[in-house]
Amino acid sequence: MIQTDFLIIGQGIAGTLLSLELIKHGKKVLVIDKENPYKSSLVAGAVLNPMAGKHWSPSPQAALFLPKAHGVYSNIEKLLSISILQETKLYVFHESEEKQLQFEQKQELFPQYLSIADSESPYFNALYCCGIISGVSVINAPLLLSSVKSYLLAQDAFIEEDFDENLLEIEEDKVHYKNISASKIIFCNGVSAATGRFFQSLPFTKNRGEVLMLDIPALPEDAVYHQKLRLVPKGNHQFWCGSNYKWDFEDLLPDEQWRKESEAELKSWLKIPFEIKNHIVAQRPTTAGQIPFVGFHPEYKTIAIFNGLGTRGFSSGPYWANELAQKLLDPNYLIRKL
Ligand SMILES: Cc1cc2nc3c(=O)[nH]c(=O)nc-3n(C[C@H](O)[C@H](O)[C@H](O)COP(=O)(O)OP(=O)(O)OC[C@H]3O[C@@H](n4cnc5c(N)ncnc54)[C@H](O)[C@@H]3O)c2cc1C
Repeated sequence: MIQTDFLIIGQGIAGTLLSLELIKHGKKVLVIDKENPYKSSLVAGAVLNPMAGKHWSPSPQAALFLPKAHGVYSNIEKLLSISILQETKLYVFHESEEKQLQFEQKQELFPQYLSIADSESPYFNALYCCGIISGVSVINAPLLLSSVKSYLLAQDAFIEEDFDENLLEIEEDKVHYKNISASKIIFCNGVSAATGRFFQSLPFTKNRGEVLMLDIPALPEDAVYHQKLRLVPKGNHQFWCGSNYKWDFEDLLPDEQWRKESEAELKSWLKIPFEIKNHIVAQRPTTAGQIPFVGFHPEYKTIAIFNGLGTRGFSSGPYWANELAQKLLDPNYLIRKL
């Protein structure tokens, strides 16, 4: 029989951050995850942006989440001797004079974040002047997730399998799964939770996003670039290009029409050659009101959830992982709502 304090289901960014947070507090964890190259956390651009949407104003949520996120990712870098946090800037290529003007007005209000490029880009066709957002970071999600998996494996804290929740037995103060006994189980299983046994009544919504992986040998990898599409450097001249948001869909098959339109868009935007290497689709774990699910099951005090991180899981994940860990360690702790 394997005894553990916390059994964690899923190792996307939610399960990754929560397991490290609990280990940091001296707790024993066991993570069960099934291999899925198209999990949301691996398909994400994984950009941390201090500005809200398209209005060029600092986001109050980012002001809360980003300092925490930077601290957590830097500590993981030290713990695992890896480099996952790339500080960078985001070039915004305006699509109209009106947008350019709006940016210039906001630049006067927020000069610590916004500036104007002083020369034309040799890599892009741009009709209007280009704005720059600083304080942006990109997380190397594949390296983060694979390194944490190795770290967990090295301490016998990781099992790769498809967790069957029908085999979970729930007692007053513990749960049992096959030969595992745990004080608590936490579901960090992304979109699967929406149809699962314990949390399907929560207001999950459905959202899919599509991404092209590009090879752009001549484009500098020290920035993120944004016009209608966003280009995020992923190393070795690879750029993540995305994404769209679809709320009404039946399957996760690549949308050929979106690919054609994106390719045409890239041809008119980029002055330099590019090659499309892959076209991938993933579902984001979104919720009504964009509120994450962080806490205990209303009926079972041995079952908790960490999910619904939505479109910005890499920014908000470290904050919520910390809040949930505190709650798991002390049930009287009140999770700080926004
Ligand atoms: C196209 C796209 C672009 C995005 N861009 C950004 C961005 O730039 N910045 C940002 O912050 N966020 C971004 N996001 C959002 C971000 O990806 C999500 O918020 C985050 O990844 C959610 O993480 P998660 O751990 O909850 O879910 P997931 O990453 O989906 O992880 C869930 C895990 O649970 C496992 N699992 C499920 N069921 C079982 C089972 N029965 N047994 C075992 N394991 C199971 C899955 O295999 C998976 O490993 C983007 C998302 C998409 C799709």
